[in-house]
This record gives sequence, structure tokens and C-alpha cells, in this order.
Amino acid sequence: MMRYLVSGLLAASALATPALAQTVAITGVRLIDGRGGAPVEDATIVITEGRIVAAGKVAVPGGAERRDYHGRSVIPGLISDHSHVGQVSGTETGAQNYTRANIVAQLAQFRRYGVTTVTALGNNAPSFAAIRADAHAGGIAGADLFGVMQGIGVPNGAPPQSMLKVGPDQLFRPSTADEARKAVAMMAAEKTDLVKLWLDDFGGSVPAKMSPAIYNAVIAEAHARGLRVAAHIHDLADAEAIVAAGADIIAHGVRDKPVPPSFVATLKAKGVWYIATLQLDEATFAWADRAPWTLTPFARAALSPALARQIDDPAWRAKILTDPKTADARTSLAMNLRNLKTLYDAGVKIGFGTDSGASAVRVPGIAEHRELALMVQAGLPPVQALQVATANAAGLLALRDRGIIAPGLRADLLVLDGNPARSIGDADKVVETWVAGRPTTF
Ligand SMILES: [Zn+2]
Repeated sequence: MMRYLVSGLLAASALATPALAQTVAITGVRLIDGRGGAPVEDATIVITEGRIVAAGKVAVPGGAERRDYHGRSVIPGLISDHSHVGQVSGTETGAQNYTRANIVAQLAQFRRYGVTTVTALGNNAPSFAAIRADAHAGGIAGADLFGVMQGIGVPNGAPPQSMLKVGPDQLFRPSTADEARKAVAMMAAEKTDLVKLWLDDFGGSVPAKMSPAIYNAVIAEAHARGLRVAAHIHDLADAEAIVAAGADIIAHGVRDKPVPPSFVATLKAKGVWYIATLQLDEATFAWADRAPWTLTPFARAALSPALARQIDDPAWRAKILTDPKTADARTSLAMNLRNLKTLYDAGVKIGFGTDSGASAVRVPGIAEHRELALMVQAGLPPVQALQVATANAAGLLALRDRGIIAPGLRADLLVLDGNPARSIGDADKVVETWVAGRPTTF
């Protein structure tokens, strides 16, 4: 991952039109630096050429442009370890949405909501590489972008094609170990950031499930190439199997059973990362429920006209609320919340992700703000939830140039009204988002 540290440095110096050419000092703020400690009141953050040069109780350098943000809080930009791009437009999912224009618009929405780095965890067509390169170079007015190229599923199995409708260049479905190794080799040639596989039968709704022969081949080939493997799972048994096989990242929470001490101990011993994606299941029912947060201007502003019409349609809501899958999602969320608390308290490495962008109701930006609220609902203190979404999330990606507010790091910042360390809802009071030192107003 060192190459991204290097490209990040290049990006900062190669900005074609930096909005702020000189040194800027943000003063008077409550600094929540991402490391999980107590906020520093009345702090100063000094930024030059896209980088933080000082933060905390520091002096304002002579000649700096001063911005007094008294009463506001500053946190690192949020980092999603599990989202998707180019899969949804309006209420439609499918290969026709995998366009540069659509992906750039989604990255702009993520950024607007304070998600400054996005990991598109699979289902990416070969054109992803050029968009990612532009994002790294600061050439896209949106979040920075990392990702898994296609990813590895199985024929007639997960991920369900009826749900994703991805193109043939967006996913591999090997039927032999040899084909699986070749698929990983192709993803490596495309410079995938991680490898992903799906080990799930979606509640028995797809006929085939990935065999150990396939996932063992995927993991061995990925590791031989220095690539880590993220695994989609839903159930405990699959999570246990894929961790035993050597998976590095669990891409969704365990949602069928409480995690037993043996599983907790194994994750800790192997240093496996765990991404709960609490919001995934909440998104299935909350819009239809008309949960209070779905009615806020903050949430409504994130909806396309087509999606807004859908969730305002009583017939659509009635259909969702009577679907047995909706009841399953409520049960899954309850178990996911419980398991996250168990794993967090035990010291398992927790990343940050939502599966936003994989379906219309998983709305980029909103999903991440809900994930923060749900982590606090699970029992994490707000400052620790913010740490998961920033420093931890960068740690999962092995990115050392972001995730905390400290000298030398990218000036990826979220300026908020209020105090999210006291009330996580204040993380929704977005005033500005800064990416590599360039601010945009919400
Ligand atoms: Zn996903």
C-alpha cells in the first residue's frame, strides 16, 4: 500500500487549481483528531498545500489566512471501507450505471456529506482504474477512491445477479480453483487494492454457494500476490470458515447468531478486520418506516428525484413493510448491533462501512452518517465511533496519510456545528468538507 502514500504526496503537489494557495489557519475549534481521545477545545489547525502542518494548541503562523470557526468541531473526513460506485442510478441497479459521469457524481455526493475516502468493494469494471487514478491525483471534485476490481462470486450463486445486474466485466464467477486463481491474477494486473469474495447463499435464495476449493484458491493466490482478501458473509458459520481459511477482512457483520468467544479470540489472534455494515439492514426498512431521520432535510437532500418519489409512495412502502425479507433485516440488524459491541469491547479491529451504493436505498453519505448513529446505538461512545470511521478505517486500508488530524497528513476534514463527541447527531451538522486542503460548503 506504500504506492498510495506516494501517490497521495504527488496529489497534494499536483493540484491543478488549488483553491487556497497559501497557509490557512482554522481557529477556535473543538478538535476531535480521530485517535479516540478527549476533544481539544479552542484548537487551531494549520494547513499548507493540502496538508496539515500543525494541529492543537498551536500558534497561528504569520501571514496565514485566518478562519475563526469558534463553536464548531472539526473531525477527520470519514473513510468508508465498504461502499460501491456505479451500480445505482435513481432507483435502478445495473451495468448501464457503470459510467464515469455517474461515478463522479456519487463521489461528489460522498464528499458533500463528509466521506472523503471511499472504498468501492467490488463489482468494478476495468474503467475503474482510470477514475481511481484521477481521484488520487485530485482531478475529481469528490471523495478519493480505492477499491476491489471485479471480485469473486460463483455461478448461480452470490452475489445474486438478479439483485446486482452487473456486466460481465464487473464480476468473476469461477467454477474451478484454476479459474479462481486466474481471476485473482487478472484483478492483480488491474491493480486492485484488495480482493473480495462472496461466501453466502442469501438466505437460501440462490442455489449455489462458494466451495472451500474455490475460496482456498482465491485466498492463496491473493496472498501470494501480496493482496488481502475481504469476504462477504452473513452467517457465523461462513465467517468462521473464511477466517479459518485466511481471510483478512470480514466485510459485513455476523447477523444470524451471537459471536462466541472462540470466534472473538480467533479474530484477535489473526488480526482480522471486521466491518459491521449496520446500515445495510436498516436501509431495507427505515425509508418505508418513515423513521424520523429519513424525513430530515439532511437525508432528503441526498435523494435523487426518482428515489424520493419511491419512498414517498404509500404502495411502495406497504410492499416493503409486508415483505418477509424486511422482518429478516430487522432481526439481522439487532444481532449485528449486539455482535459489534461484543467484538469492539474485546478489542477486535473494527473498520467502517455501510455497503452504500450497492442498492438505491443505501444512499451515499447518508448511510455513513447513520452508521455512526448505529454504532453509538450499539454502545460505542461517540468519540470511539468517530475513531472507527476515521483512524480505524484508514488503518484497515493501510493508508498512513489520512484518518487522523496530525502534522504531515492530508487535510481531509469535516467542519461541524455542535459537538459530535457529546451527541453523535451533531455529525450531521456538516458546514464544510475539506479534501486535500480544498473546502466545499455543504
Ligand atoms: Zn458490498
